[in-house]
Amino acid sequence: MSGYAMQVYENLSKKYPWEKEFLQAAKEVLESLEILMEKEPKYQKHAILERIVEPERTIIFRVPWLDDNGKVQVNVGYRIEFNSAIGPYKGGLRFHPTVNLGILKFLGFEQIFKNSLTSLPMGGGKGGSNFDPKGKSDNEVMKFCQSFMSELFRHIGANTDVPAGDIGVGGREIGFLFGQYRKLKNEFTGVLTGKGLNWGGSLVRPEATGYGNTYFAEEMLKTQKKSFDGMTVAISGSGNVAQYAAQKVMQLGGKVVTFSDSDGTVYDKNGINKEKWDFMMDLKNVKRGRIKEMADKFPGIEFHAGKRPWGLGKIDIALPCATQNELDENDAKALVKNGCICVSEGANMPSTPEAVEVLLANKVLYGPGKASNAGGVATSGLEMSQNSMRYNWTSEEVDAKLHNIMINIHRSAFEAANKYGTPGNYVNGANIAGFKKVADAMIDQGLI
Ligand code: NDP
Repeated sequence: MSGYAMQVYENLSKKYPWEKEFLQAAKEVLESLEILMEKEPKYQKHAILERIVEPERTIIFRVPWLDDNGKVQVNVGYRIEFNSAIGPYKGGLRFHPTVNLGILKFLGFEQIFKNSLTSLPMGGGKGGSNFDPKGKSDNEVMKFCQSFMSELFRHIGANTDVPAGDIGVGGREIGFLFGQYRKLKNEFTGVLTGKGLNWGGSLVRPEATGYGNTYFAEEMLKTQKKSFDGMTVAISGSGNVAQYAAQKVMQLGGKVVTFSDSDGTVYDKNGINKEKWDFMMDLKNVKRGRIKEMADKFPGIEFHAGKRPWGLGKIDIALPCATQNELDENDAKALVKNGCICVSEGANMPSTPEAVEVLLANKVLYGPGKASNAGGVATSGLEMSQNSMRYNWTSEEVDAKLHNIMINIHRSAFEAANKYGTPGNYVNGANIAGFKKVADAMIDQGLI
């Protein structure tokens, strides 16, 4: 990297040296944009890069709550309203002990370009807390969510900022958050997405990120006249994204051989079938158990404590669906050695920069999260439209729209990569296509 984008990155890294995930995400985007900056000097003239790397607004607040023993607990809450040039801020809430400002800035920054790629009118935002829902009772989760929303409610709204779920925030948490918002504001609006089906949610929203990632991978495979049929597929994570990526892969004829959580990986050389998938859905969503219990239940499934899925046997396609930086250079080398032809990211930034280099150098089809996992937020956008119309589409209608959006995102990224001289590089393609729309809107709207 040299020139304008490089300068902006260097200044950013001096300003926030402790925000390593944010710097990692910013570097990847700025590197991709260098070629565009050379061709279109208007972006430098308007200082778009300096402006786009700073959030429009950052809200940090105290979240006090009482645990089941009557003891006061205090967490930190955040909402980063990163960019609203093309629509209300939109992006999930993450509840996980590792949450800090740098992680949320990385996620919010990525969200700007991802939302732009969906072609829906949504700006970028992200939020969350260092609260850990794991091991908490439903009552404790409710009290935390109510306290969190008691501050957040003044900053969000259906036309201002519309949060959704992410790691640690599923249907249960969205319910408690929505209930508190409704009480405080005395209004029933589409202020959160991922809502329950009987109170404003959209069909196919729970499935959307996992399905969308599989649709994106399918489009990449088609460019080489390949498909999921008969492919061996490794999936990491066992949460919302992993669960529905697995279901769609099975529907398309692929063989899913792994799931994981932060304790380790289950490996099933025979492939997950419907019975095992149903067991996992109950285990993770109802019992809130650990993935190793699959190995206790089904003979033939092995549990590998502390291991990631990427080095376990032959893998044709890898779908990382857990968390950031969960696939490193050695994992990428292991995948290449074992014949992997495609990596499509369900999680945000799961591959380290070194891993991405290995994958690209070995001509592995590589779908970066901001394009490949955009189906979740796209369907959240569809939930917002349905809420505004006070009308619900059928699951077939939502799934067809989701599928179409993923095909279009693939096409935009593929064409931008070609146009700017890096054919097959979906990283550059997605960054350039996502950036242009937001940057042009910022220029149109003046210096604000
Ligand atoms: P969930 O909380 O439902 O599941 C997360 C999964 O990842 C769990 O299996 C969890 O295991 C595992 N995991 C989380 N942190 C770690 C870690 N540090 N090390 C190892 N495993 C970990 O989250 P989602 O499925 O919703 O999100 C997964 C990824 O997808 C995230 O990167 C998220 O940002 C991204 N994403 C999600 C979208 C959505 O619609 N939900 C939309 C777009 C992207 P454990 O239970 O042990 O923590």
